[in-house]
Amino acid sequence: MIDQETKDRILAAADIVDVVGEFVELKKSGSGYVGLCPFHDDSTPSLTVSPARGTYKCFACGEGGNVVSFLMKKEMMTYPEVMEWLAKRYGIDIPHPRQTREQWREMNERDGMYAINEMAMKYYQERLQYGKEGEAGREFFKKRGISDDMVYNFGLGYVPHNSGLMSYVMSEGQSIKHLFGSGNNVKFKSGKTLHVTNGIGLVCQRENGSFVERYAGRVVFPWHNISGRVVAFGARVLDARSNGIVMKYVNSSDSCIYTKGKELYGLFQAKRSIAEEEMVYVVEGYMDVISMHQCGIKNVVANSGTAMTIAQAQLLKRFSKNATLMYDSDAAGLKATVRSIDILLSEDMNVYVITLPDGEDPDSFCQGHSEEDVKTFFANHRQTFAEFMTHAMLDGVTDPVLQSEAVHCILDCINKIQDPIKRTLFIKHLSNVSGLDEQLLV
Ligand SMILES: [Zn+2]
Repeated sequence: MIDQETKDRILAAADIVDVVGEFVELKKSGSGYVGLCPFHDDSTPSLTVSPARGTYKCFACGEGGNVVSFLMKKEMMTYPEVMEWLAKRYGIDIPHPRQTREQWREMNERDGMYAINEMAMKYYQERLQYGKEGEAGREFFKKRGISDDMVYNFGLGYVPHNSGLMSYVMSEGQSIKHLFGSGNNVKFKSGKTLHVTNGIGLVCQRENGSFVERYAGRVVFPWHNISGRVVAFGARVLDARSNGIVMKYVNSSDSCIYTKGKELYGLFQAKRSIAEEEMVYVVEGYMDVISMHQCGIKNVVANSGTAMTIAQAQLLKRFSKNATLMYDSDAAGLKATVRSIDILLSEDMNVYVITLPDGEDPDSFCQGHSEEDVKTFFANHRQTFAEFMTHAMLDGVTDPVLQSEAVHCILDCINKIQDPIKRTLFIKHLSNVSGLDEQLLV
């Protein structure tokens, strides 16, 4: 018996193209793949595989389904066997059956946390939509040009001071234990103490014993995992009052249902479009994602401005092999760009960079231009990672020491490319731009 959490992890990791491709030679066709159907005597490729939907379908014999039904039919596996096969292929541990009791407890904990997150998202959405208490939040999104459709689509909400989430959760008959942060000891007036093992940290206890909502006075951006469950929240202050005293953004801490380095903001809303467009845009922030969506560019995710992780790159690769980075053009953005290029290349992806005009970020740029203008700009300003790095690191640099450091850095990235032909072409390219001998660079 495999617990739901492990099943979810296995199914999230399973890649339909990879699995079907293990048994059938697949060729790219449009946004999907085609191949000879293994379920009937096929002479023309009748089998289509859609990475966006995670499904396959034969247009001749009618067979179709997802990765699980494919393996069950093709390899005559039982459901547990399919799970075992997939778990092994994607390096996921299936907990030992003897741990069942502990496992069940954990599973209940996780389900409880998903439930609380979902409840909080809906509660904060309602606070934003209705009544006087939500006015500040509504005003914020209106000023930023965010439409009601986007507010709905991304589950955006607002947390008024004393929003009453805790009472609401109790009134719904749910346990409040997951509302607090993991590791906290919550003391109640009755004298009871609650030790929180797994929590999402939406409510904190002050020293005087009273409770306060962590995101009070902020708008909230729920993070959905790839299967659409709410796993975390990001929260932003309404004005620029931060000045280093108040953090502009705060995020959920890691928990048993959320690991920051493994999730990408907006992926759930973007995944189909990423596969269809065969491209993913990677931006810094929530507002960038939402404004791009609103503008009509839906294949976009954010990873909070830090460099991408291997896990994030692997997640993206399931939907497209092409990524375009659009981080801010400040020093921190440049550093994150170079690091992300490195990671994406090592995962065998094609990497591009777009630099926006001075002073613009994807949010402001998309708010200020039409979809057509934005798409034209992107098409005209998309650089390969090598072009970008050469310009960013070599333009105007005359010191030979700095020049050689830059060339080494670019070469390090090029060396991550697995395809030898592509690698050779990029070296040729670098040789053209830098004026260094190609043989030397090799
Ligand atoms: Zn068929």
